[in-house]
Amino acid sequence: MSLSLLAAAAHGESTPAWAMLAYLAAGVFFILALRGLSSPASSRAGNRNGMIGMAIALVTTLVTHDIANIVEIGIAIFLGGIIGVTIARRIAMTAMPELVAGFHSLVGLAAVVVGLAAWLNPGAFGILDASDQILLPSRIELGLGIAIGAITFSGSVIAFLKLSGRMSGNAILLPGRHIINLGTLAGILGIIGYYAVAPEGGAGEGWQVIAITALAFAIGFLLIIPIGGADMPVVVSMLNSYSGWAAAAMGFTLGNSAMIITGALVGSSGAILSYIMCRAMNRSFISVIAGGFGADDSAAGAAGGGEQRPYKTGSAEDAAFMLEQAEKVIIIPGYGMAVAQAQHALREMTDVLEEKGVEVKFAIHPVAGRMPGHMNVLLAEASVDYDKVFELEDINSEFSQCDVAFIIGANDVVNPAAKTDKSSPIYGMPVFDVDKAKQVFFIKRSMGGVGYAGVDNDVFYMNQTTMLLSDAKKMVEEIVKALD
Ligand code: NDP
Repeated sequence: MSLSLLAAAAHGESTPAWAMLAYLAAGVFFILALRGLSSPASSRAGNRNGMIGMAIALVTTLVTHDIANIVEIGIAIFLGGIIGVTIARRIAMTAMPELVAGFHSLVGLAAVVVGLAAWLNPGAFGILDASDQILLPSRIELGLGIAIGAITFSGSVIAFLKLSGRMSGNAILLPGRHIINLGTLAGILGIIGYYAVAPEGGAGEGWQVIAITALAFAIGFLLIIPIGGADMPVVVSMLNSYSGWAAAAMGFTLGNSAMIITGALVGSSGAILSYIMCRAMNRSFISVIAGGFGADDSAAGAAGGGEQRPYKTGSAEDAAFMLEQAEKVIIIPGYGMAVAQAQHALREMTDVLEEKGVEVKFAIHPVAGRMPGHMNVLLAEASVDYDKVFELEDINSEFSQCDVAFIIGANDVVNPAAKTDKSSPIYGMPVFDVDKAKQVFFIKRSMGGVGYAGVDNDVFYMNQTTMLLSDAKKMVEEIVKALD
């Protein structure tokens, strides 16, 4: 079935002018989609534009190609659609990062399959020369497409396993990994170069294609296993970028300009997002894409110390009393707020406090939660005004003037070890200066639970900290009751 589509796509050079215009329109819709997704206020419109662009591209491809079996393609689209809708309806917000990683792996695998199909049946793709050898540019496209696709596939599978807790989230550091990684990458590029000029260039000929596929699967695995703790968000957006480049490479093989445009948009926007996240996290871009280059072996898997340190606990009534006395409160939401689905109760608490004349602001860390923008989406869902929500760099200086820092389900993003402890896996990541607030309330379920990076947090033990040990939603609902 898919081969019939591929074969049809091979005649891309005869794409009529109207189809090129339709692909261009689809590209414009994709750009509008990315623009819309840059803010929670316009994200729904962005999603809509993306869907319109994809519908235009899909219909144009189907109409302009000589499809051998349209029924099979219709059934595939229908089944894929049902699977997509079911997953989208069922997936919990907290499981989004692993879902995204899982989907990226499919894009990577598709690029590998298209590349291998072109290698085995180049005639169907129109990439043979007069002596039945695959054209030199096509050999390079094919090699690069398979390599990027295979790296995306195995890297995304490892990211999926780590994010879903099926594999340890800690950095797994192999001895000599930098040399192994660089050697493997150089090997892949060398073999692609050799394949481009090798004498064995006919259909299904050449050991090089198999070697590129195997080495690229291996390097995807090797690049992601050393990444752990605070660097996983950057990896998810890097894999997003790789999946875009894999799709663009597929577009070249299939001669489909819409795929090239879309792949390039996804690839470059993912790369820009990764770069922005690296800057926000104080990480070197090169170190993350090169596979944990910056990771310090001594930091791997660091966990909280064994001895029990003293801390204060409080009740919802204690928190309500301090909150209504305050002039200014800064709320720092994190992953636990998403787990507890406490955003609506939190909005209610904000409304009650504001009615009592308290100024309330929300402080959002770039990697709070488990996906970029996770907290913004949840707060928007609970109708918290955007003008109360501030990014780290815009609000961090205000903790010294605030009466209460109210931490709800956040942990790593307020951990001062990121500033002081060089052996910590989160060292170097900017964090909120909650220690400067007069009073800190810290909601989490137990003293045993740690944040994503698995490290102890000195904020629990500060003089001005009161631990509110409870499910976040339950605690906030009790605070709202106590405020009435
Ligand atoms: P953390 O993962 O550091 O901490 C979550 C906290 O929530 C824990 O203290 C946990 O403690 C508490 N918690 C969990 N469930 C509940 C609940 N039902 N009620 C109350 N508290 C709860 O979260 P942060 O948001 O501070 O940090 C995000 C981390 O995730 C960073 O390390 C980041 O690098 C990483 N990450 C981020 C991604 C992104 O794109 N944003 C993607 C992948 C990883 P307890 O169990 O005791 O309740």
